[in-house]
Amino acid sequence: MDEFLRVGLLRKSIMLTVRTDESKILVREVLLSFWKVHILHHASEGPVVGQWMLNELREHGYDVSPGTLYPLLRRMEKYGWLRGVSDPKGGPRARKEYFLTKDGRRVYRRIKALVAEMHAEINPSQ
Ligand SMILES: [Zn+2]
Repeated sequence: MDEFLRVGLLRKSIMLTVRTDESKILVREVLLSFWKVHILHHASEGPVVGQWMLNELREHGYDVSPGTLYPLLRRMEKYGWLRGVSDPKGGPRARKEYFLTKDGRRVYRRIKALVAEMHAEINPSQ
């Protein structure tokens, strides 16, 4: 392999690695929070299910996998923000509907005010 090509490929693979690390950090440090805000918002309008939520987040342009979303929903359930209800006839793999709880609604109201405040600051002209 000629040196130019070799260096080019090496640089490309380093760039890809950097980009992958960057997305992982972005997901962990920022986007997981955004996704929780989306979930709280949609659950405030009615019960949400995992698959619908996945499609919704993907439509917003987020690259989110079931392996990330489902544990996130379970954590929100554990914190008492959501109440998961599965169809009793559906067996262990039954689809679960997540309802916003009273605590979830309170948390959502606080976050909503903070998001509005932040939005006004980072988009002063809008
Ligand atoms: Zn949304």
